[in-house]
Amino acid sequence: MLRMRNVVILLGSPGAGKGTQARLLRERFRIPKISTGDILRQQAQNGNGAHTLATQMNAGGLVPDDVVNRAVVERIQLADCERGFVLDGYPRNLSQARFLESQLHPPDRILAIEIQAQCEDLLFRLLSRTYCPRCGTTYTTQNDAAGVQRRCEECGGLLQKRKDDREDVIRTRFKEYEQVTGPLIAHYAASGVFHQVHGNLPVHQVFNRIEALVQQALSIPMPQTA
Ligand code: AMP
Repeated sequence: MLRMRNVVILLGSPGAGKGTQARLLRERFRIPKISTGDILRQQAQNGNGAHTLATQMNAGGLVPDDVVNRAVVERIQLADCERGFVLDGYPRNLSQARFLESQLHPPDRILAIEIQAQCEDLLFRLLSRTYCPRCGTTYTTQNDAAGVQRRCEECGGLLQKRKDDREDVIRTRFKEYEQVTGPLIAHYAASGVFHQVHGNLPVHQVFNRIEALVQQALSIPMPQTA
């Protein structure tokens, strides 16, 4: 018998907190977090087409669907995705959403949650954000007063600024989200699997709401607490 996979899709403008919430969901439900941005940033550092990929990403545009879809298919086939997974940054347009659906089959279930926030509030957050290229954790802290590069609290990696966290590129990414990813809201609402949460609240409050939605809509057995 096929096992049910619970698929949580996090939508939201750049900086809305998808990565942070995906990480909390991973810890709470012990299902992997799949961030296409993290996967693509790794690919943009080495391998075939790395330079083109880096150029596309640094300009704030979307990379071609076939590149992203291939990366997602490879990732969701791994054994740790057997009970489900959280998608952070995928799908980003209708064609990716349809592709994802073609890879799922009953009894799999989808829940799409948009973390809502105003772009102007997010701009500052993104401009002051650093991230760990090793594990993808993001921080709103800059280097310390002496300009010393900080280390990631999760894995010790050296924190960096993302090349696309520049005001002009951020504005392009906001527009991309509104125009290209926005239509996914109607797509998921039409199948009754769409919810929104306010992103302008403390992280744990946003998470409480998301956790409740996941518990109501999906059937992820609670991991045993140690
Ligand atoms: P993110 O880390 O989600 O902000 O993504 C960073 C960049 O990676 C985006 O601006 C795109 O260039 C690329 N990217 C990430 N996910 C996707 C996707 N699902 N489709 C196309 N491009 C993507």
